[in-house]
Amino acid sequence: MGRFTLKCLKCGSEYGQQYRLTCDNDDSLLRADYHEKKLELRAQPGIGRFHSWLPIQEELTTEAGPITYKSEALARELGLANLYIGFSGYWPEKGAFIKTCSFKELEAHPTMQLLKETGGKAIVLASAGNTGRAFAHVSALTGIDAYIVVPESGIRKLWLPEEPTDSIHLIKMAPGNDYTDAINLAGRLAKLPGMVPEGGARNVARREGMGTVMLDAAVTIGKMPEHYFQAVGSGTGGIAAWEAALRLRADGRFGDRLPKLQLTQNLPFVPMYRAWQAGRREIIPELDMKDAKRQIEETYASVLTNRAPPYAVTGGLYDALVDTDGTMYAVTKEEALEAKAFFESLEGIDILPPSAVAAAALLKAVEAGNVGKDDVILLNIAGGGFERLKEDLTPFPIKPVATAENPDVPLEELVI
Ligand SMILES: *Cc1c(COP(=O)(O)O)cnc(C)c1O
Ligand SMILES: [Zn+2]
Repeated sequence: MGRFTLKCLKCGSEYGQQYRLTCDNDDSLLRADYHEKKLELRAQPGIGRFHSWLPIQEELTTEAGPITYKSEALARELGLANLYIGFSGYWPEKGAFIKTCSFKELEAHPTMQLLKETGGKAIVLASAGNTGRAFAHVSALTGIDAYIVVPESGIRKLWLPEEPTDSIHLIKMAPGNDYTDAINLAGRLAKLPGMVPEGGARNVARREGMGTVMLDAAVTIGKMPEHYFQAVGSGTGGIAAWEAALRLRADGRFGDRLPKLQLTQNLPFVPMYRAWQAGRREIIPELDMKDAKRQIEETYASVLTNRAPPYAVTGGLYDALVDTDGTMYAVTKEEALEAKAFFESLEGIDILPPSAVAAAALLKAVEAGNVGKDDVILLNIAGGGFERLKEDLTPFPIKPVATAENPDVPLEELVI
């Protein structure tokens, strides 16, 4: 018995329960239509609680999951009465046990489970660092092979809370290649027999995993927040939050107003911000990311530097922003560093660079009056607790098995 149907948002084609990234007729995103219309929490410690709206058969038993708490210190400083923090990372004192320290692990668990349930043997993905770490961790836990392509700048982010296993195949790209070059190489590897591409925003399991941050907030608060703050590189988390909110609205118990997406990128690389400001569905590279590689090198939170985000596609970030009356911000490195210190001293937990960017956007929004003092706000701190984790364990670095000079190298050299 299936638990969901995959539906194309453009032509309405329906597909059964499968690991499928695209429609046969067009390039729209597919969306899962769950047979369970009401969210029914399962007795699992982590993300498995939200099994109602995860595209897998078996309940996930991992302790990794999102948590939501009401901010006191930061809220007081900002004069906000209802500021909630969605925290994905390691913070045992708060019940947060994501040992790879970002919400990418929320994607990795359901994706690898779906891969297993649909007979897949090996997954291929590109990562700026955080996604690779998350999938490497789940590969170590499950033994499922993962081929992970990472630009040089991301290699130091590839560590594990446990001893790396042979199921992890880390491919490093030589200096001069960025995250998008890694995406292109991973795309070629994924066409080899037996390999399944992770699929980025096209991967429904990935979006549902990220969407649990919104679900956790809604069940903790008792209703959907009015504002949702997140730093975006691909925007998949924003799309996921929107889709989760659509399901919560249809459930009926969590309010009928969709949270306003308040999303941010970091300067100088802000293509989605520029396109949105110009009122465009299309990103125009010459206007929105001129000299992209140089911009990316100068960007503080490199996880937020995707040159081909799912912005224009049907069901993508542009549609999400339009439907939620959303806003976008661009913050500087200085603003992000200031917000990082401010957040960490007040809330008492370390946060990753992209989450500092998200916090900086919240500060800007308060200043600009884009949120009301009594509004219910969810700040998605999508990564943090790495310093906290190091108090409890010593991370193991993952060693690359091969280095690729560029995205077009012969593949035989890499598949080890
Ligand atoms: C990946 C990542 C983001 C950006 O996610 P999107 O895919 O663009 O939604 C933000 N914060 C952290 C910590 C991340 O790892
Ligand atoms: Zn279609």
